[in-house]
Amino acid sequence: MDSSHVEHELVNVLFTEAQIQQRLAEMAAQITEDYAGKDLLVVGVLRGAVMVMADLSRAMPGHLEMDWMAVSSYGSGTKSSGVVRILKDLDTDISGRDVLIVDEIIDTGLTLSWLVNNLSSRSPASVEIATLLRKPEALSMPVEPKYVGWDIPNEFVVGYGLDYRERYRNLRDIGTLAPHVYS
Ligand code: 5GP
Ligand code: MG
Ligand code: MG
Repeated sequence: MDSSHVEHELVNVLFTEAQIQQRLAEMAAQITEDYAGKDLLVVGVLRGAVMVMADLSRAMPGHLEMDWMAVSSYGSGTKSSGVVRILKDLDTDISGRDVLIVDEIIDTGLTLSWLVNNLSSRSPASVEIATLLRKPEALSMPVEPKYVGWDIPNEFVVGYGLDYRERYRNLRDIGTLAPHVYS
């Protein structure tokens, strides 16, 4: 393993670990209030949402169930392929359930609008989205997350689950990479 600290490859930190935890706590409080008395199923979208799922779910004091889906919409780089495929489906029957999809970022919105349609066809009681980040392009798509951490500029960000070529997911902060990393 490279002995240099991967943190040093971030040129610009957009959100620190502390800011992320603070925002997730606020979102968790709102979700807890909105779903009071309901049997919440939280669905994390692998692999990027792992950190958000772990911290958001632990900030919610009530009962909930967790399940995971893996879909692919991106290749190995920074551009969307425009195609969504299920790589791993839910293990849970969601008919009659209140489902909250948890994701780390909405860029074009393609993945999540597809996912909402897919899950909605399984007769759930409700399907909503919580995302930590949202980019401007998503605003023109028919996807309306009920919970959004922050709107961010149209830049490629990494850290806190977000990868570039499967690396940088383990960073605690979220930021942009030094240009030399891409070359
Ligand atoms: P969308 O379908 O909304 O365009 O893209 C969804 C997925 O693309 C996200 O879940 C994430 O995996 C990836 N993605 C979009 N924007 C970024 C970004 O700025 N950084 C990283 N690392 N991944 C992104
Ligand atoms: Mg994702
Ligand atoms: Mg990725």
